[in-house]
Amino acid sequence: MIKEAVILAGGRGSRLKDRTAAMPKGFLEIGGKTMIEWSVQKLLGAGIEKIIIGTGYLHEMYDTFAKKYPAIKTVCNEDYASTGSMGTLETCAPHVTDTFLLLESDLIYDNIGLYVLINETHENVILASGATHSGDEVYLEAREGILKRLSKIKADIAPVYGELTGISKLTTTFLNAMCEYAAQNQETASSCKQKSTLEYEHVMSACANVSPVFIRKIDRYAWREIDDETHLQMAEQEILPRIIENESLRAVRREILLNPGPATTSDTVKYAQVAPDICPREKEFGVLMAWICRELTAFVAPPGEYETVLFGGSGTAADEIMISSCAPDNGRILIVDNGSYGERMAKIAAVYNLPCTVFKSSNYEALDIVKLEAIFKSGNYTHLGIVYHETTTGLLNPLDVICPLAKKYGLVTIVDAVSAYAGIPMDLKKLGIDFMAATSNKNIQGMAGVCFVICNKNELEKTSVLRMRNYYLNLYDQYDYFVKHGQTRFTPPVQTLYALRQAILETKQETIEKRYQRYTECWRVLVSAVKKYNLSMLVKEENQSHLITAILEPETPDYDFDTFHDLARKHGFTIYPGKLGAINTFRIANIGDIQPEEMRRFTGVLGSYFVS
Ligand SMILES: *Cc1c(COP(=O)(O)O)cnc(C)c1O
Repeated sequence: MIKEAVILAGGRGSRLKDRTAAMPKGFLEIGGKTMIEWSVQKLLGAGIEKIIIGTGYLHEMYDTFAKKYPAIKTVCNEDYASTGSMGTLETCAPHVTDTFLLLESDLIYDNIGLYVLINETHENVILASGATHSGDEVYLEAREGILKRLSKIKADIAPVYGELTGISKLTTTFLNAMCEYAAQNQETASSCKQKSTLEYEHVMSACANVSPVFIRKIDRYAWREIDDETHLQMAEQEILPRIIENESLRAVRREILLNPGPATTSDTVKYAQVAPDICPREKEFGVLMAWICRELTAFVAPPGEYETVLFGGSGTAADEIMISSCAPDNGRILIVDNGSYGERMAKIAAVYNLPCTVFKSSNYEALDIVKLEAIFKSGNYTHLGIVYHETTTGLLNPLDVICPLAKKYGLVTIVDAVSAYAGIPMDLKKLGIDFMAATSNKNIQGMAGVCFVICNKNELEKTSVLRMRNYYLNLYDQYDYFVKHGQTRFTPPVQTLYALRQAILETKQETIEKRYQRYTECWRVLVSAVKKYNLSMLVKEENQSHLITAILEPETPDYDFDTFHDLARKHGFTIYPGKLGAINTFRIANIGDIQPEEMRRFTGVLGSYFVS
């Protein structure tokens, strides 16, 4: 799996004169977006975790840009004006730790090129295209598919095999060889200069004599390097439309799920499931799972003090794991039930015959904290089970008050945060949450099939002595086995874990704070439409999560959920009914890969049904 990329962005790009007077070439806009942004988004979509941008000319602009994407690291080639692109690559080299993609900064390209290189079995590979007639070609000569020579002068090359696109894949060994070559050739040229004046492609070509560089050619590849005004026009008018068409043809039809999970996923998460077959007991898969556990923990707690334990299963499995694995036989669990999921926690405890008392509260009104504290204080309980966000109604329980109170009276806290995790910023340590259940398919925006429990390690260790009440769903056994063997006890959902890796990368780029803001903005769009069409909500706004809204079904006889559902579905939106005893609601969730403009489009559909 390729995780690193280097973008060479040191040079000035003087042939674009005025345009690059105030910005580096990568900041030129094509189709309303800068080239660097196009490129970074494509790299992130291809699963790249670390992007090193080698800057120089007006490097501050890249430094500012990098703040938007935590994956980016900028390194500056101070001598950019007197070095070639190899000088910038030398500046980047110390930060590269594994096989990487190497790109020039002034490119637009079809993302298929990245996947082709990533999947290529040869180690060092140049991506080539057929003839572009761009007027600034670097021609490649090959023998048996291996690079023999490259030149801008066509006559030097016989015959022309393809054109250099400026996208390659290289190993660190090859990179080191390139740096060595550059250093040696520098000494002969001028002894005082520190960095190479050569262009990187020439060094690559020189080193190809030592270690073979393969050329992977896509004949009609849609790409363009931008060196002058003509290129810029060509890119905008001819190349970009081709790229957009190609990429959208490969996109999966977009369905927007407004049901309370599973949530809408990005194309890049969907495609991450298509991976080579692998035995999950191979070491590299164990490394992947360990990385996933660490990252899932790090979103909400310090890894080391807290541990994530993975299982195959839906969110309810994580609830069952926690409830059945955390309390001793003589423990006494208090379960707060103010919705279907609290009720489910109590049912699980009953199935296992655990000593448990249910604290019943309204499904749509805020919990009575004073009453709850009095129960904690009574000393009758050892564990508290509670749902963070009651998905049934969108009611958010104030765990920031409740859990610290429970801790004050010595209770161990067991929280179902399935529909809160990764959608609402939280700090388990501050909140005083000991065990927390979540799943891969809600706010983390992965695929259904993986569930996990994030545990306070001290509390988790205490459960090691408990009698096993079940086998497959046992928390401590799963944890212990993974620590000792780097594997799960039973076959994990391999492809779902690959998708979860990509979903984690995308969450890290967006950040949970920003994701919560995006969800909240979608919710605001919805709430204002609800008011506009005289509908009412079950839960008071101040008690809502901003993630899911329960809307009362109008009492008019001509309202029919199925008709409304089918209309919404025709427009690409899926909605879900919700029954709460005698109260009929339909629920709109705005979690997942959804944007405010899509929610606005949905409110249009809502209006067209409720106004007519
Ligand atoms: C979705 C959800 C679950 C789990 O449901 P599954 O169908 O098992 O994935 C559990 N608790 C809450 C609060 C949820 O929203």
